[in-house]
Amino acid sequence: MNNVENFLGSGKDYIPGVYFIREKRSGGEIKYAYISESAKDILGFDGEVKFADILNMIHFADKDRYLQKLKESEEKLQKYTENFRFITKDGKIHWLSGAVDVKMNENGTVVWNGIIIDVTDTKQHEEWLAITLNNAPEGIVTFAGDCVIISANATMSQLFGYDEKELIGKRLTELMNPEQAPYFEEYINNYLLIVDNCGAQKLKNYECIRKDGSVFPVEFSINDIKNMGNLLFVLAVRDITSRKQMEKALKENEIKLQNIVSAMPCAFFTAVIKSDGTQESVYLSNGADKLFTGNHVGQTEKQNGNMDFLAALDDDDASRIREFRKGLFKKCMHDFWEDEVRLKDGRWMQYSVKPEYLDNGKILNHGLIIDITKRKHAEEKIRFMAYHDMVTQIGNRSFLMKEFPKTVAAAKRNGKKFAVISIVPVNISEFYANSGYDVGDALMAEVASKIMKLSGTNDVLAYVSGSRFVLLKGNITDSAAIDNLCAEICDVFDETLTVDNQEFEVSIKIGVSVYPDHSTDIDTLLRYSEAALMYTKHDFNDEYKLFTEEMKADLSNKLLTRNRLKYAIQNRQIVPYFQAQVDVKTGEICGMEVLARWIDEKEGVIPPYRFIPIAEEFGLIEPMTELIIEEACRINKRWIDSGIARVPIAVNISGKHYPDNMLKLIKRMIDEVRLPSECLEVELTESSMMDNPDKTRKTILQLLEMGVTCSIDDFGTGYSSLSMLKSFPIKKIKIDRSFVLDIDKDDGYAIVKATIAMGKALNLTILAEGVDNKRHFNILRKQGCEIIQGYLFSKPISAQEMEEKLAAWNAGREIAAVTE
Ligand code: C2E
Ligand code: CA
Ligand code: CA
Repeated sequence: MNNVENFLGSGKDYIPGVYFIREKRSGGEIKYAYISESAKDILGFDGEVKFADILNMIHFADKDRYLQKLKESEEKLQKYTENFRFITKDGKIHWLSGAVDVKMNENGTVVWNGIIIDVTDTKQHEEWLAITLNNAPEGIVTFAGDCVIISANATMSQLFGYDEKELIGKRLTELMNPEQAPYFEEYINNYLLIVDNCGAQKLKNYECIRKDGSVFPVEFSINDIKNMGNLLFVLAVRDITSRKQMEKALKENEIKLQNIVSAMPCAFFTAVIKSDGTQESVYLSNGADKLFTGNHVGQTEKQNGNMDFLAALDDDDASRIREFRKGLFKKCMHDFWEDEVRLKDGRWMQYSVKPEYLDNGKILNHGLIIDITKRKHAEEKIRFMAYHDMVTQIGNRSFLMKEFPKTVAAAKRNGKKFAVISIVPVNISEFYANSGYDVGDALMAEVASKIMKLSGTNDVLAYVSGSRFVLLKGNITDSAAIDNLCAEICDVFDETLTVDNQEFEVSIKIGVSVYPDHSTDIDTLLRYSEAALMYTKHDFNDEYKLFTEEMKADLSNKLLTRNRLKYAIQNRQIVPYFQAQVDVKTGEICGMEVLARWIDEKEGVIPPYRFIPIAEEFGLIEPMTELIIEEACRINKRWIDSGIARVPIAVNISGKHYPDNMLKLIKRMIDEVRLPSECLEVELTESSMMDNPDKTRKTILQLLEMGVTCSIDDFGTGYSSLSMLKSFPIKKIKIDRSFVLDIDKDDGYAIVKATIAMGKALNLTILAEGVDNKRHFNILRKQGCEIIQGYLFSKPISAQEMEEKLAAWNAGREIAAVTE
């Protein structure tokens, strides 16, 4: 065997496989005459190699084929190749590939000369390639110039619905849209002419047909390979159905967007900014036409595809925008710029842009211009409304507060004082009641304009509520100046005012405080000015008063009382007293008015005139009323339940009581205290009803729904006209005490008589208050007054006393005592 090794020489070490000589004598077994050293490494053998061992190590799946070939070669003495898997001692699989020559010696021995190469690596690559190909997202086929498919991957089968075998041998063009097939063939024929050898070529817009006949859009990617001197093609087929759908949707969206954009009343643009701050449009939406036709931008500019709307702008705004654009070049980087600008024609635009810095140094502006004129006007209106009174069109309280610091600054600058003047047209509610709201409002506006004429440019006039005007009048040097000023204002109102062709005599009252004499703080100055006004109101002679130290003391007294009152309410020291209302015909107690009393530890019983106005002024009226009504209702409920008497109580409601809160309170009394609703009556004063007749009407209706009736208190003092009266759903009026007092006089008598007659005509029950002597009682009775309330029968008395009275009341006797 050395012959062989000698023959191979040192080359044997480089043979990339196992070289062997195998022999079989006739009738004998197969033996290895020679096997190269490399068998050790490749097959993992050591020492002598026996054929039986080799056989044992061939993969069972390949063994039969291996033996079959061996047998055939022995019979036919023909060369052959073989491929099989071999499992080494350490369990690894090797792919072996061999070529074997076979001869027979003269002595009948069959000799095999062979080489086996380990192709494991190559095999693995092949397998991976197959895996990769079959899992590729594209279908991949190879074919030659005749377009007949040579190989196809699994994706191709999935894509077209044919199995792999069906695909192979088919012409690729059979899978295509028949109209496109000739173009493809032509392309392939001319391939070498057209295509530089520079990688895969993309073929778009082709359509393919599946086995089931359905058509789908594809994208081809084609490349050529040289295989054993032949030109082959590899074609990747990508299904682009979803991409096409997406493109279509995008396109549709784009069209939609474009439609929206062009229909919008605003201009979108993209423009190149120039260093002088002008710009040249690159894109301009249709909206620009609508926004800018017929004004300063000019059609010519627009026709050039260019629109720089600077020319249309207010000069200030134009230069601001120009500076912003120039700034972009100075690297004043702006992420986003938004501005509100005014056009020369008065319209407002919102100008928003986002600059884009291009690599070539150019700057683009992408922007939007919207017409915001309507919004601006609305904002202006809202701002105006926030600071103005809608009836008089002059500033309101907020306006006054806003302007105050400016007035202070001016006074400090010129070293002078200013006056805080409160002005009230005292009889205005009379005109509202008699002439209606439109006339009343017009009259108020007229009052405002008269005062306005007296105020200088730097003075501030505001309407602050409760029919009160406040004028901040500057340049005051001394009190003589204030006197003059007030006299001047009063003079103006000495003349009648004309509204709606009617003449009105408006009488005014004025109160004045002075900065910085009385205070430097606006709230205090307003309070002092109002306090002075209160004094004027209660004085028949004076039309104006300046705030004084005396008033200040009074005011601080009030504050003191407020604190005490608050404490008294918390500690339930305000209690209900009851005053009987007597039926003239039967002499029975047909009602009781509930009147508040403050029972103070030191002072004893404090009458309402000393605390009701303070409760009203300082916001304590609601908790106080709640306390009194709740107490009175509980007491009356007890009287009813214990059978002492079933007499309705009438409670007083202040005009300062918020109606809805009052309704809630009354409802709670009926629900919680369970007082029968017909045993509760509400007294509303005529003047408070006239403050807001519509609201009052609703409130009364809501009370009626609960079963609670209303009466008009202090009737005759509130200027309500007959027609007004008719419009309220009430059943009872209470003639004010002042009229009863005057009943002895001719005038007084006439008034009471007329009132009773009118009330009766309207089918109202008439009650007279403050009847403290027999004579008055008799007059009233004769006139037809039905109910009497007064000291004549009873003063307001405590619940305890009332209980005794109710128990002892003997109808006929008491009435008899006064009528005999
Ligand atoms: P008003 O509602 O008109 O009550 C009638 C007032 O006339 C009561 O005075 C009563 O004592 C008094 N009076 C009744 N008959 C006579 C009489 O023959 N001669 C005289 N000289 N006076 C008589 P009062 O109790 O001092 O109440 C005064 C005012 O205080 C009430 O007038 C009412 O406006 C208010 N007031 C009293 N209690 C309350 C209350 O609980 N809530 C509210 N909001 N106001 C109340
Ligand atoms: Ca009353
Ligand atoms: Ca009254």
